[in-house]
Amino acid sequence: MPAEQLELKMAARNVNLWYGEKQALFDVNLDVFDRSVTALIGPSGCGKSTFLRCLDRMNDVIEGVRIKGDIRLDGEDIYAPRVDPVQLRARVGMVFQKPNPFPKSIFENVAYAPRIHGLARSKTDLEEIVVKSLQRAGLYEEVKDRLNEPGTGLSGGQQQRLCIARAISVNPEVLLMDEPCSALDPIATARIETLMDELKESLCMVIVTHSMQQAARVSQRTAFFHLGKLVEVDETSKMFTNPTDQRTQDYVTGRFG
Ligand code: ADP
Ligand code: MG
Repeated sequence: MPAEQLELKMAARNVNLWYGEKQALFDVNLDVFDRSVTALIGPSGCGKSTFLRCLDRMNDVIEGVRIKGDIRLDGEDIYAPRVDPVQLRARVGMVFQKPNPFPKSIFENVAYAPRIHGLARSKTDLEEIVVKSLQRAGLYEEVKDRLNEPGTGLSGGQQQRLCIARAISVNPEVLLMDEPCSALDPIATARIETLMDELKESLCMVIVTHSMQQAARVSQRTAFFHLGKLVEVDETSKMFTNPTDQRTQDYVTGRFG
């Protein structure tokens, strides 16, 4: 989908990041749009996860990280002193590579965040949020009879959908996913991909994937990173068929990476 038909959600400008002395991101500029999936691709170690963590300020908690540049959510600087990173992460949720449910019940995994953010006025409210989140994550039917059983007892793919339910329970506007399928089998992967497709109807999504096939299947826009730089970003179909930069061409045709 051409960018001009989509609504700008987050904008990163001249983002530079250092781990101690080592610079990991160099002047990254990227716009991500509402109601669409942007895929970040590139060889291992090129800075995809690092950049993703800039979008919800997860790098703040890593010792020795220094960030320069400007990142906006709906035009607001997310690094401004008045922004509370915990509140920000309710608006910009994250799902990780390895499913990481809390060692608690399925219900509690999803209820935790809405409760601490004060989203439910009553027990009924909270139950409604949990059920709705599990439904949106395509997991409810499979777990409705065992909501009090541990989340860690589910299969890998179910655990990842539980983590997605947990992430969307606070109604984020942006959902970040860092290689969410890399620990899953092809069937579980297909379910998550279908889910991404459904969730993008109401969310801005940014996913990191090492699979170019996955980027091609699920994203509308693709950004190619190489050695900490964003080389090129465009409509996904163009990136895979007719990229502008030689490095993108080499990567998408499998010449390196
Ligand atoms: P990708 O997700 O594309 O594989 P990363 O963002 O994880 O790449 O890493 C980019 C670079 O930053 C790599 O050189 C990596 O070694 C380095 N890096 C990532 N995380 C840390 C960290 N916590 N401390 C120091 N260096 C890191
Ligand atoms: Mg990574």
